[in-house]
Amino acid sequence: MKTDLHTVSNTDNPSWAAIVGNPNCGKTALFNRLTGLHHKVGNYPGITVEKKSGRIRNSRIVLRDLPGTYSLSSKSVDEKIVSDMVQSWREPKNRPRAVIVVVDATNLIRNTYLALQILDWNIPTIIVLNMIDEARKKHISIDADELKKRTKAWAVIPASAKYGEGIKEIIETLEQIPDNVRLPKMEPRLVEIEHCTENIAPLEQFLEPKKDVLNHHPRIEALRLLSDDGYINYLTKYFTAAELEQLLSKVTEVKTALKKNHIPYRSLEQSSRFAYIDLYLGDVFKKDPISRRSMSEKADAILTHPVFGPIALLLVLGFIFNAIFSWAQFPMDLIQSGIDWTSAQAGAILPDGILKSLLTEGIIGGAGTILIFFPQIIILIFFLSLLEDSGYMARMAFMMDKLMSKIGLNGRSVLPLLSGFACAIPAVMSARTIENRRDRFVTIMLIPLMSCSARLPVYTILIAAFVPAGYIFGFMPMQAAVLMGIYFLGMFTAIFAALIFKKFYPSKSVQTMLMELPPYRMPLARSLWWQIYDKGKSFLTTAGSIILAISIVLWFLASYPRQAGDQQHTSRERIEYSYAGQLGHFIEPVVQPLGFDWKIGVGLITSFAAREVMVSTLSTLYNLENDSGQSQSLIQAMRKDRYPDGRKVFTPLSVLSLMVFFVFAAQCMATFAVIKKETNSWRWPLLMTGYMTILAYVSCLLVYQGGQLLGFI
Ligand code: GDP
Ligand code: MG
Repeated sequence: MKTDLHTVSNTDNPSWAAIVGNPNCGKTALFNRLTGLHHKVGNYPGITVEKKSGRIRNSRIVLRDLPGTYSLSSKSVDEKIVSDMVQSWREPKNRPRAVIVVVDATNLIRNTYLALQILDWNIPTIIVLNMIDEARKKHISIDADELKKRTKAWAVIPASAKYGEGIKEIIETLEQIPDNVRLPKMEPRLVEIEHCTENIAPLEQFLEPKKDVLNHHPRIEALRLLSDDGYINYLTKYFTAAELEQLLSKVTEVKTALKKNHIPYRSLEQSSRFAYIDLYLGDVFKKDPISRRSMSEKADAILTHPVFGPIALLLVLGFIFNAIFSWAQFPMDLIQSGIDWTSAQAGAILPDGILKSLLTEGIIGGAGTILIFFPQIIILIFFLSLLEDSGYMARMAFMMDKLMSKIGLNGRSVLPLLSGFACAIPAVMSARTIENRRDRFVTIMLIPLMSCSARLPVYTILIAAFVPAGYIFGFMPMQAAVLMGIYFLGMFTAIFAALIFKKFYPSKSVQTMLMELPPYRMPLARSLWWQIYDKGKSFLTTAGSIILAISIVLWFLASYPRQAGDQQHTSRERIEYSYAGQLGHFIEPVVQPLGFDWKIGVGLITSFAAREVMVSTLSTLYNLENDSGQSQSLIQAMRKDRYPDGRKVFTPLSVLSLMVFFVFAAQCMATFAVIKKETNSWRWPLLMTGYMTILAYVSCLLVYQGGQLLGFI
């Protein structure tokens, strides 16, 4: 699925096309339509963080989806991916057969900016006017033929990735582009701004002789050298050292001249491109003169209102947490009885012995337990996808933007942090949209504090076993409230942690957030389904196989070595004698002050592979310990379990302590690995593990010991 630029552009397959566009214009949705691949479609910037390729159905053309970007500058990691690829087009061998610029037809003026920048590379460019369904609803009419004539685009195609409109036409147009077309070199699509032309002339003239090597118009090069200090790096290989020095001094010279004329040279390209759009294209984009307040605006009057907005947000979250319990109850019971039945059947058929023990206690008892949580995970994924695709997630980010700047972060951090509720791994990757390096790294450090879906089974089993199902104040479901509280604990701690980072590692620059709220959109059922399918499948296969493997290893560790005269001992004595028992007892002194016994200690170790393994670990240990020969429900076993001196193992206080531990502890090897990769250093993942482990240990110590001092049990 992922193909490197060079393998695609190689001579064995010269037919590839790039898809570029602003964030949220529907690139990924279009890509999926064209290729039939089911990529995640999200309603906020920065979903596509990796280059993705896919072949158009029944065609030899390969498409590459790129991250969304407003322009070809290279400030954030995301923009740099696009900008680097575009820069490689100077070499003819790297040029795509065509570029598809996806444009949001409801937001033409801003979207056209990038289209003009791309057009100036003189590669056949197809402008796709996406979301044409919405544009029609808003009475925006666009004369596609006229737009094609004026911009000299290869084609302009109105389309709707949502309803499949225009898809066939895009494919046909792509197919009809002859191999190796050479477009005539065009004048850049810019308007000359008064006084500028003569000021920039020295730079432009200096670049003129290199025109053919650079494969890009000297005026655009000049403007970009003025706006972006890093741009020179793209040109170094085309100049000798002496020439480079001359070039740099020309840049300085021109900057000085422009400054003298009070021309803001950094935004020069922007102003001359927007002037072009205004002058040459303005009448092509006709808008209905009677502008009406859209549905989105009406909804936002309440949903992002300073007072009602946060209340609505809390209600939405409350509803979701409650749904996780109440909707999941029935399927969970069903799966539980299915597992019990399977276990009983296997127990009845198989003779007593190792195989029976492995199957019923190790595999069905351990790995099977995690299946029970599948409905809850699905419900969580469903709601997260719904929030994202509908556009509400972007509002959540918007409402929290102010708070973010108070704690030394910026609004762009919100989305990666919110994605952390699903899983830290894509969340850490999506932090790439944060331009400022410091803010990006601090955000990455905070993401693991957001309770990910893998922690859900641990929370819910503890809550189901030890929090009564009643209501607080007669209307608030108690279990959902505790669950929400646990999630908030992580969030509030992240705020504190951000403040501490701010103190010791202050932010140097203030990045204003230019996030534009996408309109509310009815999520595509198909897209929701694919997200649930993809994530559900990866939970069952990836997590499932880890859990299965660990369950088997654990069963072995908990069953061996056997003592002489094994049969005379009770199951409990046998398991305490086993490797797992020895390991658990070895670390017990460390975890005992937190209110955990040795079994929980073993669970804490095994859950490093994946947090939800905690549940299956306890399940395996309790099943092996149980003499009744029947698998018992984990909840009952936990409620009954006692220390040798008769005290209960799970008390309200130790349960609270355990939940707090799961909120704070950095028990996830995959997160460690992805942070190492994204920050390209060991320092950050080690810092994350270090601070979170200390935080977890100290908080649990405070909860448990403090609680006991106060007289709780
Ligand atoms: P990207 O950021 O450019 O990759 O945009 P996405 O493909 O993630 O789409 C952003 C949102 O727009 C999603 O909610 C899509 O369901 C929605 N969307 C995409 N194409 C269309 C379209 O043609 N019409 C409408 N109404 N919605 C669309
Ligand atoms: Mg995308």
